[in-house]
Amino acid sequence: MDTIKLKKIDIDKKEIKRPIIIAGPCSAETEKQTLETAHELAAKGIQIFRAGLWKPRTRPGSFEGVKNEGLPWLKKVKEETGMLIGTEVATALHVYQALKYGIDMIWIGARTTANPFAVQEIADALEGVDIPVLVKNPVNPDLDLWIGAIERIHRAGIKKVAAIHRGFSTYNKIKYRNEPQWQIPIELKRRIPDIQVITDPSHISGKRTLIREVSQQAMDLVFDGLMIETHIDPDNAWSDASQQIKPDSLKEMLDSLVIRSSNGKDLQMNLDMMRQEIDQLDQELWDVLEKRMKLSKNIGMFKKENNLTILQPKRYNEIMNQRVEVGVSKGFSNEFSEKLFKNIHEESIRHQKYIMNSE
Ligand code: PEP
Ligand code: MN
Repeated sequence: MDTIKLKKIDIDKKEIKRPIIIAGPCSAETEKQTLETAHELAAKGIQIFRAGLWKPRTRPGSFEGVKNEGLPWLKKVKEETGMLIGTEVATALHVYQALKYGIDMIWIGARTTANPFAVQEIADALEGVDIPVLVKNPVNPDLDLWIGAIERIHRAGIKKVAAIHRGFSTYNKIKYRNEPQWQIPIELKRRIPDIQVITDPSHISGKRTLIREVSQQAMDLVFDGLMIETHIDPDNAWSDASQQIKPDSLKEMLDSLVIRSSNGKDLQMNLDMMRQEIDQLDQELWDVLEKRMKLSKNIGMFKKENNLTILQPKRYNEIMNQRVEVGVSKGFSNEFSEKLFKNIHEESIRHQKYIMNSE
C-alpha cells in the first residue's frame, strides 16, 4: 500500500476544530430552498455547506438532481454567507463544472467509490488541483476498496483527502438504513493514521430521530466530524425526506452532544475494547453450547432407559421452525438461522447416539 501522508481540512489555512460540521440539503432543489437553508445554517455558525446536484438514484425516474443549474446557486451561497461549499461528483465532467463555479470541496458518493474506473476518472480530472476531496465508503463493507479509492485520489496529488463513513448496505433487517460496522472506519484510521473520518449519521440512520445517537457514537469513537443533511422544509424534501432535519434541530442536536477530548491512542483502544467484548461473547457462546450439550446428553440417557428413538421428527420440526423464526426476528437471515440450528441439532444427535450405543 502507498504511504499516505495527508494534510488536514482547513479554512483560510486554519485547521477546523473537531468536530468538523458539514450541513445542507441532500439535494439542491430550487434557488430559494438552497439559499434559505444556507442562510439559516450560516446564522447558526455552520462553516461548510453541502448540497447534491447530481444525485445517483437507485431507480430511474426519481429526482436525479438539478445538475448544472444549481452551480450558480451554490456560488451565491458562498458569496452571501461566506461558507465553504461542497457537492458530490461522479464523473470528470462534474469535476470540471464544480471547479469552474468555485466549489471548495467535493465528495465521492458511495456508489461511485465502489467503481475503480469512475474513481480513476475523477482522480485524473483532479490532477493539479488543491481542494479537499472526501471519499465516502463504498456501499459494500470492503475496506480495501475504500482505501483503493483514497489512494487513487492521493496519487493524483490531492493532500487533503478525508473519508466519510455513511454505513453499508445490508439485507438484514436492522433499525438503521445502512449498517454502521464501526470497526471498518476504525480500522481505516489504523491503516491511514493521518486520515480524518467524518461520520454521516443521516445516511447511516435513514431516520431523523436516530441522528443524535449515531452522532454521539461517532464522537465517542473519536471520529473527526459529522455530515448532516439539513433542509428548510424536511418533510417536503425531494430526496431523503425522512432523514433530513431543520437547521434549528441541527443546532439543538449539536449543542446536546458530549464531545470528549481524545488522543491518538483512543481509536486503537476502542477497537481493542470492541474486540475484547467479542472474545468474551464468543466464550459465553461456547459456555451456553456446552450447557445445552450436557442437557441433551441427559435426554439421551432418558431415551435409552425408556427405549425411545433418538430422532423424534415432530420435536425436530418444532425446534427448527421456532428457532428460525426467532433468529429472523433478531435480524439474522433464514439461511443462517437454519444452518446454525441444524448443526447444533446434528451435534446433539451425535452425542446421544454415542450414549445409546454405549453399555
Ligand atoms: C448523499 O450524500 O446525498 C448521498 C447520495 O450519499 P451516499 O453516496 O452515501 O448514498
Ligand atoms: Mn441524501
